[in-house]
Amino acid sequence: MQNQNIKQMESNVIGSFNLVKNDFYKLINLINTLQKEIEILKISNSGLRRDFSNLKQKIDEKSVKPLVKPSSKGFLASKSGEKYHNDNCFLGKKIKSINRVWFNDKINAVSEGYSACVCSI
Ligand SMILES: [Zn+2]
Repeated sequence: MQNQNIKQMESNVIGSFNLVKNDFYKLINLINTLQKEIEILKISNSGLRRDFSNLKQKIDEKSVKPLVKPSSKGFLASKSGEKYHNDNCFLGKKIKSINRVWFNDKINAVSEGYSACVCSI
C-alpha cells in the first residue's frame, strides 16, 4: 500500500514537472518572439529617429529666418490715413505698397499731419 502511494506520488511529481517544463518552453518561445519584435521596433525606431532628426533640421532651418530682425526702415503711413506705424505693425503692413509713405523718424511723420498708432507710442 505504501509502495503504491509512493508510485502515485512519483507519477504526480513527474506530471507536475512536465507541466512546468511545458510552461517553461512556452515562456522561452514567448521570449524569442518578444526579442524578434524588439529587434523590429529597434529598426523602426531608428528610422523614426532619423525622420524626426530630419524634420527638426527642417524646422530649425525655417525658424532661423524670423529670428533675423529686418533692418528698420522707419515709420510708414497710408497716403489717405491719419496714423503712422512702425515697420513691424500689423496695421502698417496692411497698407498697400502703392499707398505707403515712409518717414525716417516720428517728427517727420507728425510734421506731415500724422499721429501715432499705438504701435509707435
Ligand atoms: Zn501701428
